[in-house]
Amino acid sequence: MVAALRTLVEAESPSGDTGALGVCADRVAALGAGMLGAQPERLVVDGRTHLRWRFGGATRVLLLCHYDTVWPLGTLATWPLEIGQGVATGPGTFDMKAGLVQGLFALASLDDLKGVTLLVTADEETGSLTSRELIESEAAGARAALVLEPSRGPAGALKVARKGTGMYEIEVIGRAAHAGLEPEKGVNALIELSHQVLALERLARPELGTTVTATVASAGTTHNTVPAGARFQVDVRALLPEEQRRVDEDLRRLEPRLAPRTARGLQGRAAVVLPGVIPAVGGCPRRAKRAGDGHLRCAAREQTRGLEPARFQRSKIPTGSAAGWWHSLASQDTR
Ligand SMILES: [Zn+2]
Repeated sequence: MVAALRTLVEAESPSGDTGALGVCADRVAALGAGMLGAQPERLVVDGRTHLRWRFGGATRVLLLCHYDTVWPLGTLATWPLEIGQGVATGPGTFDMKAGLVQGLFALASLDDLKGVTLLVTADEETGSLTSRELIESEAAGARAALVLEPSRGPAGALKVARKGTGMYEIEVIGRAAHAGLEPEKGVNALIELSHQVLALERLARPELGTTVTATVASAGTTHNTVPAGARFQVDVRALLPEEQRRVDEDLRRLEPRLAPRTARGLQGRAAVVLPGVIPAVGGCPRRAKRAGDGHLRCAAREQTRGLEPARFQRSKIPTGSAAGWWHSLASQDTR
């Protein structure tokens, strides 16, 4: 297993690099073919290769994995796969190449794989934009879908739920001016960005499991120019569907803070909004509402007492990658 893990971890596979993804896909395919005695189908969508093994008959059990990681190319140079004291570390080891390896070994140990489908996708870390339809169609009709993401905590609790996820990008539109000669004629998009990032803090409700995190930002062009533009990305996670809706609405209502006479506005884009999947057993979501991350503790209890399979409900958040740009025009430039 360690050798198999090394094979996969040493093929770096950031979600945004189709070349690197292709190399890793080849390794996953070769490893799987050797262990399972069958080549996968290669389903290429927008340059990303998803791998599917079907072992005959209608799918009763779907094993779902992804081989992309969040780590940029070159991470391996400073953080190689290391194994010591019973712990393996390296980019993508935890999430989720180790799970993929465990899945392959589990399947290889079975006498009969009829009714099993293994799907390994290439874009989970960026919202499964090119694999979503594939996942949904494979899971439809299956009695169980097992997602081999890493377990929760040292006790290895089974994850039975997923928070809703939102990925947003907000663009700040200012006005350029010479920073030395006439900065007063500019509208500093970086300052506006700072106001907005601080405002985000108020949208989070960690006691309900709602987090709102500014993650990536950029602004400006040269040292001596008032930045005309800036943009930042926001990662939203919510346990409760109504919380996901609330944050979505609040983000769309963000207003420019610089003086209305000069501030030119914001526009945003919901890159991906995915609903959470919460189990409809044991009243978990209600308990979680009262007790912070109680949902996850609840999940651990579900594991010990046995989880009812296939009773999942989906929230009714509008989803998709084309939610479009929204515009905040209230403080549009009047000059
Ligand atoms: Zn993962």
